[in-house]
Amino acid sequence: MFEEINDFETGFKKLLDDVLEFDIQNPLKDVKKVLCIEPHPDDCAIGMGGTIKRLTERGVKVIYLCMTDGYMGTTDETITGHELAQIRRKEEEESAKILGVKKIYWLNYRDTELPYTREVRKDIVRIIRKEKPDGVFLPDPWLPYEAHPDHRTTGFLALDAVAFSSLPNFSNIDLDMGLKPHLVSFVALYYTHKPNYFVDITDLMDLKLKAIRVHRSQFPEDIWEIWEPFLRTVALYYGQKAGVKYAEGFRIMPGLFYHITPFAELI
Ligand SMILES: [Zn+2]
Repeated sequence: MFEEINDFETGFKKLLDDVLEFDIQNPLKDVKKVLCIEPHPDDCAIGMGGTIKRLTERGVKVIYLCMTDGYMGTTDETITGHELAQIRRKEEEESAKILGVKKIYWLNYRDTELPYTREVRKDIVRIIRKEKPDGVFLPDPWLPYEAHPDHRTTGFLALDAVAFSSLPNFSNIDLDMGLKPHLVSFVALYYTHKPNYFVDITDLMDLKLKAIRVHRSQFPEDIWEIWEPFLRTVALYYGQKAGVKYAEGFRIMPGLFYHITPFAELI
């Protein structure tokens, strides 16, 4: 029997606790498998390497989906984009291994040119339907001042794919191939300035840095001298909000909250 509620605070709390049964204190408690979508072959490690290790240690299956080939990521004029893409693929495999990730999907769109199209959206939907993750991690496309179009585009495409993967008439060629529609129960945005959930990575910070540093083509000594303090400062920023030393921050939202919801920012 529907019980009418007369104020927003009570309604909001009831919606989360009783209707959606979404526990924002511990949203990753019951997950068995997650899909982590990254624009380039080092973004999962940079954005959430500690959390990935924490999850795989617990037996959660973490799967990467890398959108581009990393073709542009160098200032070295002696290396071709094709060579770099090959190197970066190997580096990502090595980094994933350190974090306990065993499977990586590559969509191989050209670095810096990831198109916002129906085709790419369908590529992601197909992988969601194949893997049936409980949750999908993606870069926050609303991060203020984010200048890299692949990052913004990946975030939007990933959200689109999560929204449509449960609809049988969307890209129904997947169903002809034997796949089933799949409903993802939450999205988690990394590289976010509006985190609502934190993972304490104090004891994993060194391992996270190691998993990033094996992207040797991206972090030669002179660049690492800038990046290590930067990465530590980002972890301190989230850590301060979480009341620990080093943390990773996420914006985690259940389904209803990323479509037509005026109070999505309150969760
Ligand atoms: Zn990137």
